[in-house]
Amino acid sequence: MIWYPYEQMKTMKTPYRIRKAEGVYLYTDDQKLIDSVSSWWSVIHGYRHPELTKALTDQAERFAHVMLGGLTHEPVQKLSDKLQSWLPGDLDYCFFSDSGSVAVEVSLKMALQYFMNRGETRRTVVLALEHAYHGDTFKAMEVGDDEDYHFVLKAYGKSQNVIHIPTEIGALEEAFEKYHDRLNSFIVEPLLQGAGGMRMYDLSFLKKARELCDRYGVLLIFDEVATGFGRTGHRFVADCVLPDILVLGKALTGGYIGHAVTVANHKVFNGFYDDDPAHALMHGPTFMGNALACAVALKSIELFEQGDYLSRISRIEAITRREMADFRHPSVREVRIMGGCVCLEVNDPAVLEGYQQFAYERGVFSRPFLRYLYAMVPYLITEEQLVRVLDTMKQWFKERT
Ligand SMILES: *Cc1c(COP(=O)(O)O)cnc(C)c1O
Repeated sequence: MIWYPYEQMKTMKTPYRIRKAEGVYLYTDDQKLIDSVSSWWSVIHGYRHPELTKALTDQAERFAHVMLGGLTHEPVQKLSDKLQSWLPGDLDYCFFSDSGSVAVEVSLKMALQYFMNRGETRRTVVLALEHAYHGDTFKAMEVGDDEDYHFVLKAYGKSQNVIHIPTEIGALEEAFEKYHDRLNSFIVEPLLQGAGGMRMYDLSFLKKARELCDRYGVLLIFDEVATGFGRTGHRFVADCVLPDILVLGKALTGGYIGHAVTVANHKVFNGFYDDDPAHALMHGPTFMGNALACAVALKSIELFEQGDYLSRISRIEAITRREMADFRHPSVREVRIMGGCVCLEVNDPAVLEGYQQFAYERGVFSRPFLRYLYAMVPYLITEEQLVRVLDTMKQWFKERT
């Protein structure tokens, strides 16, 4: 029996069974649904993309996987070369892994060991944001701040190694003043906090964070597992403010296979690069650099570059703003829009009960959580399809006055 994610198995409703998926559509036996979730924000080019599928099957004909311990291969080398030239600044060293959570773990391990290798053993604390989500593995949970996902951690009591602050410059300055000699890193989902409730904040906060990290020698980590590849309207937020370590996942493979990467800059890499074997990064997920994942990721990046995606995303944002301009409802606390993300935060989660089935009947797949009804659509969506997604959201509230 399948144990489903984030569900009370005793009361969960039967999931929709997908028979086929193509473009923005998911097909069940009796319905054709626009996927407004992009399979957890990863399927940016849509389903069953001929070129992605071909990249994958061509590689499968050669070999699907060899380990990176003692071996290497063309797809992983090409992907790391591509990322090195494509990513901003001197983010040049790619450590691959099989999921976003693991890539976050790797980033935090890198930051800690960077200072341990230098003998700065006091720097054990990570600064993180309130409402952060960085994945469901243990250290990722600890830097996360969402009881709804991670309440099991309460069993350990309050963490001694993580400090959470709100996205306010005053709180940021205060935290650095107080803890700077104990901090190894500051980890953020830049501009858009996803699973913590699609919370959006200003670039000035990140600029300040960069400044303070520089002043106190703290490493800045951007978890762009969700925001990377255009979701905020920027290609990467790292294009605006440069982190020391960048984490990518989700859309990296266009949603075809789980894969992620932790990209370090020269400063971080050089903190490991010496004659002492004990200074090596002792990490190695079995499926890191999987050849199928690398081949499809390379093709996905090529599509992103050639398809003028940033214009597509700003068009999605413009249509969303236009459609939501006059929308008001007493149950809706706030409408937030950034790039290819729109979120309606309601006052009471009960308001969203039944929405998923309502949307299903109108040809839209949606998965609201807690107080958040959102859409993160595939970028190839047409205006008509996008308006349909947004109309469905608005219609739900119209019928509830
Ligand atoms: C989804 C997500 C992760 C975890 O990625 P998985 O591939 O699910 O392990 C980490 N960080 C952020 C910001 C995410 O949105």
